Amino acid sequence: MPRDGQDLNTQDTALLPDLLATTGAAIPPLRDLLEAAKDSVRSKVMADGRVSGGLVEAEQTATHGLAWLATYVEALAQMQIWAEKLDGEGQFGDIEQLIHQIAFGEYLWQIYGGIPMNQGEILRLQDIGLTQDQMRAMMEPAVMTLTQGGNTQAARLRLVDLMQERSAEITVGRTGLDDELEMIREQFRRYSVDRIEPEAHEWHLKDELIPMEVIDELAEMGVFGLTIPEEYGGFGLSKASMCVVSEELSRGYIGVGSLGTRSEIAAELIIAGGTQEQKQKWLPRLASAETLPTAVFTEPNTGSDLGALRTKAVRDENGDWVLNGNKTWITHAARTHVMTVLARTVPDTDNYKGLSMFLAEKTPGTDAEPWQ
Ligand SMILES: Cc1cc2nc3c(=O)[nH]c(=O)nc-3n(C[C@H](O)[C@H](O)[C@H](O)COP(=O)(O)OP(=O)(O)OC[C@H]3O[C@@H](n4cnc5c(N)ncnc54)[C@H](O)[C@@H]3O)c2cc1C
Repeated sequence: MPRDGQDLNTQDTALLPDLLATTGAAIPPLRDLLEAAKDSVRSKVMADGRVSGGLVEAEQTATHGLAWLATYVEALAQMQIWAEKLDGEGQFGDIEQLIHQIAFGEYLWQIYGGIPMNQGEILRLQDIGLTQDQMRAMMEPAVMTLTQGGNTQAARLRLVDLMQERSAEITVGRTGLDDELEMIREQFRRYSVDRIEPEAHEWHLKDELIPMEVIDELAEMGVFGLTIPEEYGGFGLSKASMCVVSEELSRGYIGVGSLGTRSEIAAELIIAGGTQEQKQKWLPRLASAETLPTAVFTEPNTGSDLGALRTKAVRDENGDWVLNGNKTWITHAARTHVMTVLARTVPDTDNYKGLSMFLAEKTPGTDAEPWQ
């Protein structure tokens, strides 16, 4: 007798037949739904042929919800591309199929029934202005098959069994990334196991800074110049490489895993908005880790809504900028040589239009004296 589903043979029943064709057929109705949602939100927030800031504000649930819906639809479309690529390479095995099937089953139901934007806020399609008929139109046969049979108990149990059998593998299922990225993953996985995992808990308990030795080793491995263009001394690799490196270092300790992206953020800001002189000066130093930067945006009362920040920048009698305000949550602040600081330069504004980004140099602290 099966007890609690444990003794059921889930192997044969877990996977849907023709999975890839079924998930592929679920994408067009989703795209149609998203177009209908865009039309509806457009009609809510346009005035005199333009998007009105006031209407966007008044229709926050619809506009925020549209962003969530678009993200869900794109995530499923990208999963389909991942799955078809693996299938073409003969690598779409049981684990990958189960992940794909469960994701479609779950996210399709959420789109139809309610997307949890946070614990207290569920997006219902009617909040975007869609009618019952427009919602029902999404429920084409493929979508019905996946919502009914995708994220089942049998599928979840089978996936967990397989995960336990293959617990020595780095990732659950194949990532579909290219060989170069997988080599990078291996390299940083090994480093994380050897150098980070044995020490991380101790650093955390003692509230210590990451040792300079580790930062030097990461610099040697190219972490800080990974995505900076080659002409400025970086490796010019893709954003995906930074994701892989951050992921593997974070398996050891999130404090180490978040270091590479500091240089990434600073370099990106300088490339996008800096002068030629600033690019020539800072980018090679960031790439070599001679300069460790930090991002100084968040304030005690301002996180997501950065346009509302209050730190003020005014010129003194010598024409130098003086910044006044409070910042918080600044990763790697003690060790930094240069801060990218967001501050308000246009007084009497309360949105993003009055903000400027500063490059502010700083003397790094030491272990004994983190702030000097
Ligand atoms: C580990 C860590 C490292 C960090 N490092 C840095 C750093 O180096 N530099 C830096 O400047 N900052 C840093 N931060 C801060 C980070 O950028 C902020 O925490 C983030 O921007 C969110 O702001 P908040 O915490 O004030 O949350 P809030 O903005 O108050 O958000 C709280 C909740 O409300 C939701 N919410 C917000 N706006 C809306 C909306 N319009 N509609 C519906 N829901 C909404 C959010 O999704 C969230 O669930 C770090 C944070 C962490 C956790």
